[in-house]
Amino acid sequence: MREEGGKRIKYIVVTGGVMSGLGKGITAASIGRILKDKGYEVVPIKIDPYINIDAGTMNPFQHGEVFVLKDGTEVDLDLGHYERFVDVELGREHNITTGVIYLSVIDKERHGEYLGQTVQIIPHITNEIKERIRSVAARSGADICIVEIGGTVGDIESMPFLEAVRQMRGEEHPDDFLLVHVTLVPTTLSGEQKTKPTQHSVKELRELGLQPDVIVCRCKERLREETKAKIAMFCNVEKEAVISAPDTDDIYKVPLLLDEEGISAYIMLRLRLLPRKHDTSWRVMVERAEHADKKVRIAIVGKYTKLEDSYISIKEALKHAAMSLGCRVEPVWVEAEDLEVLSDEKLANFFEDAEVQGILVPGGFGVRGAAGKMKAMKYARERKIPFLGLCFGFQLAVIEFARNVLGLKDASSSELDAETPHPVVTLLPEQRDVKNLGGTMRLGDYKITIKENTLAERIYERREVYERHRHRYEVNPEYIELLEQAGLIFSGSCDGRMEILELPQNGEEGHPFFFATQFHPEFKSRPGRPSPPFKAFLKAALSLTAGDCAASEE
Ligand code: GLN
Repeated sequence: MREEGGKRIKYIVVTGGVMSGLGKGITAASIGRILKDKGYEVVPIKIDPYINIDAGTMNPFQHGEVFVLKDGTEVDLDLGHYERFVDVELGREHNITTGVIYLSVIDKERHGEYLGQTVQIIPHITNEIKERIRSVAARSGADICIVEIGGTVGDIESMPFLEAVRQMRGEEHPDDFLLVHVTLVPTTLSGEQKTKPTQHSVKELRELGLQPDVIVCRCKERLREETKAKIAMFCNVEKEAVISAPDTDDIYKVPLLLDEEGISAYIMLRLRLLPRKHDTSWRVMVERAEHADKKVRIAIVGKYTKLEDSYISIKEALKHAAMSLGCRVEPVWVEAEDLEVLSDEKLANFFEDAEVQGILVPGGFGVRGAAGKMKAMKYARERKIPFLGLCFGFQLAVIEFARNVLGLKDASSSELDAETPHPVVTLLPEQRDVKNLGGTMRLGDYKITIKENTLAERIYERREVYERHRHRYEVNPEYIELLEQAGLIFSGSCDGRMEILELPQNGEEGHPFFFATQFHPEFKSRPGRPSPPFKAFLKAALSLTAGDCAASEE
């Protein structure tokens, strides 16, 4: 089914069995990394079998963080793993949901494109799925397309996708298609590795007409030879195709662990690919990070801190920055609401006892926890503790400054208090009349212009940067002058919208590092290429002077 004269694209489809949460996304992203290091261009596609068109409306308690792509699409956090592992920038087309497929098929039906046929799951939905996968792969210009099917084999939701994959397998050349199935091999208390769950999940896959080529087994420790032999025999794969994926403390080790198990050799053999290069920089980076002994403790004052997945990009961005500085981050998760009841003294004791060297306030929505976050900021500002505020953290820093430095005691954001006499953060006039807030968020990449001779310029070493956004409220233009006269510096902006704030570093009143952004720099951070604000923040927390944060020591 390849187009005449078109580039031959290889497909690696990744499915999951037994249960969710096995790290299928990380496995797929790691395979992408491994193949990239062998010199191949890789494009990932994530299939989410839910009916939502995208993840924008989904609760982070249920799904973890909403990741934002360059074009503003709000997606599942797995897309973040792909961007970080494969080092690519993805867009809306790289995330296919059931909703996207059905919307398109129903739209075509309404436009009479099916010429009076009965529109059915097979062939219309499955054709739509195949066409999308193929056209995204072809347009990317990549050599290999990795398609991860979300959910677990056997779920009703993923059936049409698995059927489409079954059809694709027959249509593509055998050298161009590979199915990787990720399962679980639990260990009993007596140390026995159990293969039954894997056998059952492969059986389920076979009932759908799919035979895996490679089985990646999540396990406590590497699979024993006899365990591999048993899985190979019962599941009809070669023994070399049974790969252990043992638990690890660092997700960036996964490509190395899988590679050591021979996955790349096997995949390349089956897809008839020869290595074009042997890039070892990932290994060097991971090994260096493993030997870092310096530690830096960062408080993350948030709202969903019981579910660390809701701040995964921030956690990863801190890790990338730490890796580049040869240190290790110890995040201290602080539930913002818990700070609200503390006196100033108790709050100071809390941070001191926790030996916190820097305070980070991430993005967020709504009033719960906002007061606690501002208390943490006031402490960071007054005690000169390095501070990084992101999005809501930026807006709250403006409010805290307006209240406690400018003296506008009842300053607020119209998101928190619609009646506030001093809405220092507010909706812009053009947004105010919109009754339905859905679809009014400012999303994705925007260009930020940075002022000369500011901390922002020293951090980024440039005057123009593109960063990703996800917010609705803005610094109120009517208060900018007042805030600046009181000493706040807005050092970055975009078409009159304030994007970066900082406090002066010099002089007696100077603060070593007080920096906040309306955008989310965490989304563009990569292992080996940390986000500049995160790196500068950690440098300051390690009590290096923030002024020389531009100096690179890689
Ligand atoms: N709630 C704020 C807004 O909508 C901040 C959003 C965020 O932190 N992502 O503008």
